Amino acid sequence: SANQGDFDYLFKLLLIGDSGVGKSSLLLSFTSNTFDDLSPTIGVDFKVKMVTIGGKKLKLALWDTAGQERFRTLTNAYYRGAHGIIMVYDVTRRDTFTNLSDIWAKEIELYSTNQDCIKMVVGNKVDKLNARAVTKEEGIDFAREYGCLFLECSAKTQSNVERCFEELVLKILETP
Ligand code: GDP
Repeated sequence: SANQGDFDYLFKLLLIGDSGVGKSSLLLSFTSNTFDDLSPTIGVDFKVKMVTIGGKKLKLALWDTAGQERFRTLTNAYYRGAHGIIMVYDVTRRDTFTNLSDIWAKEIELYSTNQDCIKMVVGNKVDKLNARAVTKEEGIDFAREYGCLFLECSAKTQSNVERCFEELVLKILETP
Protein backbone atom coordinates (compact mmCIF):
# COMPACT_ATOMS: atom_id res chain seq x y z
CA SER A 1 0.00 0.00 0.00
CA ALA A 2 1.12 3.49 -0.86
CA ASN A 3 2.86 5.84 1.52
CA GLN A 4 0.36 8.47 2.72
CA GLY A 5 2.82 11.25 1.96
CA ASP A 6 3.28 10.16 -1.65
CA PHE A 7 0.37 11.13 -3.87
CA ASP A 8 -0.57 13.15 -6.95
CA TYR A 9 -3.82 14.60 -5.62
CA LEU A 10 -5.66 14.96 -2.35
CA PHE A 11 -9.43 14.82 -2.75
CA LYS A 12 -11.97 15.64 -0.07
CA LEU A 13 -15.12 13.54 -0.43
CA LEU A 14 -18.28 13.85 1.66
CA LEU A 15 -21.05 11.39 2.39
CA ILE A 16 -24.40 12.94 3.21
CA GLY A 17 -27.93 11.61 3.64
CA ASP A 18 -30.37 10.61 6.36
CA SER A 19 -29.29 8.72 9.45
CA GLY A 20 -29.32 4.95 8.97
CA VAL A 21 -28.90 4.86 5.19
CA GLY A 22 -25.46 3.28 5.56
CA LYS A 23 -22.95 6.11 5.20
CA SER A 24 -20.63 4.77 7.91
CA SER A 25 -21.01 1.26 6.53
CA LEU A 26 -20.07 2.42 3.03
CA LEU A 27 -16.99 4.15 4.37
CA LEU A 28 -16.02 1.11 6.39
CA SER A 29 -16.63 -1.20 3.44
CA PHE A 30 -14.54 0.99 1.13
CA THR A 31 -11.66 1.62 3.51
CA SER A 32 -11.36 -1.77 5.19
CA ASN A 33 -13.55 -4.19 3.19
CA THR A 34 -15.57 -5.07 6.26
CA PHE A 35 -19.20 -4.81 7.36
CA ASP A 36 -20.39 -4.53 10.94
CA ASP A 37 -24.01 -5.60 11.21
CA LEU A 38 -24.24 -5.01 14.93
CA SER A 39 -23.56 -1.32 15.26
CA PRO A 40 -26.31 0.99 14.02
CA THR A 41 -23.90 3.86 14.42
CA ILE A 42 -20.33 2.91 13.84
CA GLY A 43 -19.23 6.46 14.49
CA VAL A 44 -16.78 6.82 11.66
CA ASP A 45 -16.49 10.48 10.79
CA PHE A 46 -13.23 10.75 8.93
CA LYS A 47 -11.04 8.25 7.11
CA VAL A 48 -8.14 8.42 4.71
CA LYS A 49 -7.61 5.96 1.88
CA MET A 50 -4.74 5.81 -0.59
CA VAL A 51 -5.84 4.53 -4.00
CA THR A 52 -4.57 4.48 -7.56
CA ILE A 53 -7.33 5.43 -9.98
CA GLY A 54 -6.90 6.54 -13.59
CA GLY A 55 -3.14 6.09 -13.22
CA LYS A 56 -2.97 8.69 -10.45
CA LYS A 57 -1.97 8.13 -6.86
CA LEU A 58 -4.70 9.65 -4.76
CA LYS A 59 -5.13 10.42 -1.13
CA LEU A 60 -8.86 10.43 -0.37
CA ALA A 61 -10.07 12.27 2.71
CA LEU A 62 -13.49 10.79 3.39
CA TRP A 63 -15.98 12.46 5.70
CA ASP A 64 -19.35 11.35 6.95
CA THR A 65 -21.82 12.78 9.41
CA ALA A 66 -22.00 9.87 11.85
CA GLY A 67 -23.78 10.56 15.07
CA GLN A 68 -25.21 13.89 14.00
CA GLU A 69 -28.88 14.70 14.22
CA ARG A 70 -31.02 13.83 11.31
CA PHE A 71 -32.15 17.32 10.40
CA ARG A 72 -29.23 19.27 11.70
CA THR A 73 -27.75 21.90 9.47
CA LEU A 74 -24.20 21.29 8.40
CA THR A 75 -21.76 24.11 8.62
CA ASN A 76 -19.86 25.68 5.77
CA ALA A 77 -16.71 24.05 7.09
CA TYR A 78 -17.95 20.56 6.37
CA TYR A 79 -18.58 21.37 2.71
CA ARG A 80 -15.63 23.70 2.22
CA GLY A 81 -13.12 22.48 -0.34
CA ALA A 82 -15.04 19.28 -1.12
CA HIS A 83 -14.22 17.82 -4.54
CA GLY A 84 -17.01 15.25 -4.43
CA ILE A 85 -20.25 14.69 -2.55
CA ILE A 86 -22.00 11.33 -2.28
CA MET A 87 -25.71 11.63 -1.51
CA VAL A 88 -26.79 8.33 0.01
CA TYR A 89 -30.31 6.94 0.38
CA ASP A 90 -31.65 3.55 1.46
CA VAL A 91 -33.52 1.82 -1.39
CA THR A 92 -35.82 0.24 1.24
CA ARG A 93 -36.83 3.56 2.87
CA ARG A 94 -38.65 5.92 0.56
CA ASP A 95 -38.35 8.90 2.93
CA THR A 96 -34.56 8.76 2.70
CA PHE A 97 -34.92 9.14 -1.09
CA THR A 98 -37.42 12.02 -1.04
CA ASN A 99 -35.23 13.77 1.56
CA LEU A 100 -32.44 13.95 -1.02
CA SER A 101 -34.43 16.61 -2.88
CA ASP A 102 -36.28 18.02 0.14
CA ILE A 103 -33.25 18.42 2.40
CA TRP A 104 -29.88 17.35 1.11
CA ALA A 105 -29.84 18.93 -2.36
CA LYS A 106 -30.93 22.21 -0.73
CA GLU A 107 -28.15 21.97 1.79
CA ILE A 108 -25.60 21.43 -0.97
CA GLU A 109 -26.93 24.50 -2.73
CA LEU A 110 -26.63 26.56 0.44
CA TYR A 111 -23.27 25.42 1.67
CA SER A 112 -21.24 23.95 -1.15
CA THR A 113 -19.45 26.91 -2.66
CA ASN A 114 -17.32 24.90 -5.10
CA GLN A 115 -19.15 25.04 -8.44
CA ASP A 116 -16.99 22.21 -9.82
CA CYS A 117 -17.86 19.82 -7.01
CA ILE A 118 -18.94 16.46 -8.50
CA LYS A 119 -22.09 14.95 -7.03
CA MET A 120 -23.13 11.33 -6.94
CA VAL A 121 -26.38 9.73 -5.85
CA VAL A 122 -26.02 6.28 -4.29
CA GLY A 123 -28.91 3.94 -3.45
CA ASN A 124 -27.63 1.58 -0.73
CA LYS A 125 -28.91 -1.77 0.69
CA VAL A 126 -29.82 -3.41 -2.63
CA ASP A 127 -29.13 -6.76 -0.89
CA LYS A 128 -32.55 -6.39 0.82
CA LEU A 129 -34.29 -7.73 -2.25
CA ASN A 130 -37.91 -7.92 -1.09
CA ALA A 131 -37.88 -4.65 0.80
CA ARG A 132 -37.18 -2.29 -2.09
CA ALA A 133 -39.24 0.93 -1.92
CA VAL A 134 -37.48 3.00 -4.58
CA THR A 135 -36.96 1.73 -8.12
CA LYS A 136 -33.65 2.02 -9.89
CA GLU A 137 -35.35 4.16 -12.57
CA GLU A 138 -36.47 6.68 -9.94
CA GLY A 139 -32.90 6.92 -8.70
CA ILE A 140 -31.61 7.41 -12.24
CA ASP A 141 -34.21 10.11 -12.94
CA PHE A 142 -33.42 12.01 -9.75
CA ALA A 143 -29.68 11.89 -10.43
CA ARG A 144 -30.19 13.10 -13.99
CA GLU A 145 -32.39 15.98 -12.84
CA TYR A 146 -29.77 17.12 -10.31
CA GLY A 147 -26.77 16.53 -12.59
CA CYS A 148 -25.32 13.72 -10.49
CA LEU A 149 -23.68 10.40 -11.19
CA PHE A 150 -25.75 7.41 -10.03
CA LEU A 151 -25.16 3.88 -8.73
CA GLU A 152 -26.92 1.36 -6.53
CA CYS A 153 -24.82 -0.66 -4.10
CA SER A 154 -24.70 -2.72 -0.93
CA ALA A 155 -22.28 -1.98 1.87
CA LYS A 156 -23.25 -5.35 3.33
CA THR A 157 -22.25 -7.50 0.34
CA GLN A 158 -19.77 -4.79 -0.78
CA SER A 159 -21.34 -4.94 -4.23
CA ASN A 160 -20.54 -1.78 -6.27
CA VAL A 161 -19.02 0.04 -3.27
CA GLU A 162 -15.57 0.47 -4.79
CA ARG A 163 -17.15 1.41 -8.10
CA CYS A 164 -19.01 4.30 -6.45
CA PHE A 165 -15.81 5.90 -5.24
CA GLU A 166 -13.95 5.07 -8.46
CA GLU A 167 -16.56 6.63 -10.74
CA LEU A 168 -16.73 9.73 -8.57
CA VAL A 169 -12.96 10.13 -8.51
CA LEU A 170 -12.60 9.50 -12.27
CA LYS A 171 -15.13 12.25 -12.90
CA ILE A 172 -13.24 14.60 -10.56
CA LEU A 173 -9.99 13.82 -12.41
CA GLU A 174 -11.71 14.59 -15.73
CA THR A 175 -12.97 17.96 -14.53
CA PRO A 176 -10.59 20.79 -15.42
P1 GDP B 1 -25.46 5.90 8.74
O1 GDP B 1 -26.25 6.43 9.90
O2 GDP B 1 -25.93 6.49 7.45
O3 GDP B 1 -23.98 6.05 8.90
O4 GDP B 1 -25.80 4.35 8.63
P2 GDP B 1 -24.96 3.09 9.21
O5 GDP B 1 -23.75 2.83 8.37
O6 GDP B 1 -24.75 3.29 10.67
O7 GDP B 1 -25.99 1.89 8.91
C1 GDP B 1 -27.28 1.87 9.51
C2 GDP B 1 -27.73 0.42 9.62
O8 GDP B 1 -27.93 -0.13 8.32
C3 GDP B 1 -26.73 -0.49 10.32
O9 GDP B 1 -27.45 -1.41 11.10
C4 GDP B 1 -26.03 -1.18 9.19
O10 GDP B 1 -25.55 -2.44 9.57
C5 GDP B 1 -27.14 -1.29 8.16
N1 GDP B 1 -26.64 -1.30 6.78
C6 GDP B 1 -25.76 -0.42 6.22
N2 GDP B 1 -25.54 -0.71 4.94
C7 GDP B 1 -26.29 -1.82 4.65
C8 GDP B 1 -26.48 -2.60 3.46
O11 GDP B 1 -25.91 -2.37 2.37
N3 GDP B 1 -27.36 -3.66 3.57
C9 GDP B 1 -28.00 -3.94 4.73
N4 GDP B 1 -28.83 -4.99 4.72
N5 GDP B 1 -27.83 -3.24 5.85
C10 GDP B 1 -26.99 -2.18 5.82
